[in-house]
Order: sequence, then structure tokens, then C-alpha cells
Amino acid sequence: MNLEEIKTLEKQYVMQTYARNDLFLVNGQGCMLYDDKGNSYIDMTSGIGVNCLGHNHPALVEALHDQSQKLMHTSNLYYTEPMVQVAKELVESTGMSKVFFANSGAEANEGVIKLARKYSSDRYGQHRYKVLSLVQSFHGRTMMTLTATGQDKFHQYFYPFPDGFEYVIANDIEDFKQKLDDSVCLVLMEMIQGEGGVLPLDKTFVQEVTKLCHQKDVLVAVDEVQTGIGRTGSLFCYQQYEIQPDIVSMAKGLGGGLPIGGIMTNEKCSTVLQAGMHGSTFGGNLMSTRAAMTVLSIINQKEFLESVKEKGKYFMDALQNIQSQDILEVRGMGLMIGVVVDEKKRAGFVKKLQEKGVLVLTAGSQAIRLLPPLIISKEELDQVIQAFQEVFS
Ligand SMILES: *Cc1c(COP(=O)(O)O)cnc(C)c1O
Repeated sequence: MNLEEIKTLEKQYVMQTYARNDLFLVNGQGCMLYDDKGNSYIDMTSGIGVNCLGHNHPALVEALHDQSQKLMHTSNLYYTEPMVQVAKELVESTGMSKVFFANSGAEANEGVIKLARKYSSDRYGQHRYKVLSLVQSFHGRTMMTLTATGQDKFHQYFYPFPDGFEYVIANDIEDFKQKLDDSVCLVLMEMIQGEGGVLPLDKTFVQEVTKLCHQKDVLVAVDEVQTGIGRTGSLFCYQQYEIQPDIVSMAKGLGGGLPIGGIMTNEKCSTVLQAGMHGSTFGGNLMSTRAAMTVLSIINQKEFLESVKEKGKYFMDALQNIQSQDILEVRGMGLMIGVVVDEKKRAGFVKKLQEKGVLVLTAGSQAIRLLPPLIISKEELDQVIQAFQEVFS
């Protein structure tokens, strides 16, 4: 098939819920993607923060080949090994206590909210159910996580939305204090708001929120769906904020391209959900957890995480040094970077970068968002910088 043929079929048979780029991708290698015409692109999207090992990574290909010949899926009615290995690695690397596996970020966050409500209802009664999230956040597309998402544009069409959600202005501790009343059971936040525009939270805000919540036994959950699995130069971003959350959700990068999500809790939350209270048919699926095992074995190494930090700094400095009135700000952490430009000109810049062989994401109304595979080389980053220089001068 070529681009025209696939566009026709997609339009005829697939629900039109995505505004796709005019590009038909057929294979990939490392940080490169190739379209149907054989054009090559540097992938600064990683499938929205997913392909942290790039494309066609030999260790991942081999592990999945091996696993597919043994066992792909059994359900959670039986014991299987890869999920236990992934849980062990996550717990031992963070000092948390236990893991639950799901399929996606939204499903993970759904579990976070259910767990927090049960924890609070067990201890304090059913009136304590409110979830505080932040304005401009993104937590997923299910009814609950859509409601937790602090952007008005998502709160349409699907009425009625579930009850018990309120939104705090990010980095506004007074607003937070005002909303932290006796009905609150959970505060849910991303350390860097990804979809919202690559907006890092202030360390002082995050630490103060965590302190106030712990005083009242309100649970603190960090949504690491986008920031986790090495993206910002530590296994999880909250580790650089020096807090101890009660719950952490993850997904995107964890499977390196296979669908997987999960939540991780500390000791006090680890027995809230008992047999039969929560579950997922595919949760902990052997292919997905085997992929996660492989991803962690590569990413969760001191030198690897250091290299993400170092490459991120190198890249961000270079972007900041581009002399252009069109670049309003460069922000982010590690290899999660937002280049802020004029809202009206953004689509044009994205198109020009694609013409120069660089695929990028957008976020919020003004950011060009860059989430390259974590394995990207300095030479590839230099090529991206070159393309930015050409487009922005
Ligand atoms: C992408 C994302 C989600 C939703 O993940 P899905 O796998 O698409 O359900 C939730 N939270 C954050 C921070 C995200 O970036």
C-alpha cells in the first residue's frame, strides 16, 4: 500500500478520532523511522514517549521472540514469572512496596483513584472521596481520568461526569491549601505536565503539597506515565523532587512499545485492594512484562540514566542557543523537552521540521514537544539541532 491508498481505507473503516500527520510509516531502526517512499526521519516522538529503546532494539526483539515461543498470555488465574521480575525490580529500585499491572496509563490512574477512595473510606468513612488534581494536567481518557484531567476542553459531551474532583492551580500553594478540605482523599499530579505543555512543577510546591497531605493522611499519587522509566534522567521523575509519594502510576515507556501500565504503592497502601476488588484480563501479560523486564534491564542502570541527563542538558543548551525570535522558551528535564513558540506558527514549524526529516510532537497550545528514544546519540541530536537552526532562522 502507498500513502494515498492507506488514507482512503483509514477514512472508510477507522473512526476519525485522530488528526493524523500525512505520513505512512513502514519500519524503524534505532532512532530512525522510514515511510512508504523510503524517506527517513529522526524520531523525536517515540510513539508519544513509548519507544524508549528506539525501534527494533535487538534485546527487545530477542526477548519477545523468545517469550512468544514459550507463553504469551495466561490471565491472572495463574503464576507467571516476568511480572514478578518487573515488580521486584520496580520495588527494589524505589523503596516502594507493591505493584499492580494494567494495560495503559488511563487504566493505571483509574486504579490509583479506586485505591485512594477505598483507603480513605476504610479509615475515615465514605464522605472522604474528593480527588485534587492540577489545572492543565492530563491523566487519561476513561470517565474518571478524563474528569481528573484539569483542562476544560476535555469536560464536554460525555455527561454526567463522576463526582468528587477539584482542580488546583499548579504551583499555587495558597490555592491548594484552600481546597485541601476534609473531603479530600487523594492528590494526583504529574511532576512535569506533559500533554499540558511540558510544564515542570516547582520543587517547593511539590514538597509542600506532599508534607501537608502526609499530615492529614491524604494520599499523594504521582502520575509518571510520561515522566517515568528514565525519561527525565532518573527511573522516576519524583525521585529528583525528593518526595515519597504513596502511589506512583506508570505506562508509556515501561513496555518499550508493548502496551502495559501499572501502579506502585508504599507499604500503607499495599493491602487496600484485596482479591476480587480490582483486576484486568491483560494486566501482567507475559509479552508486555517480558518487554518491561528488558526495558528496565537497560534503562535502570546508573550510567544509562546519567547519559539521559547529560544528553538532555546538551540538547536543551543547544536549543536555547538558537538565535530566533520565534523560540520563546525551552523547558523540561532530561529528554522531555518543550520548545515554546507562537501558537499560530506552530503547525508550520512542525511541518517544516518533518520536511527536514525530524518528527516532533506538540503539547498544550504553544509547545513543540520532544520525547526522543532514550538511546539517541549526540550525533543524532546534532542533526536535530541543525534542523531546528534551519527552520528557526
Ligand atoms: C499519556 C498519559 C496518560 C494516559 O495514558 P494512556 O496509556 O493513553 O491511557 C496519563 N497520564 C499521563 C501523564 C500521560 O502522559
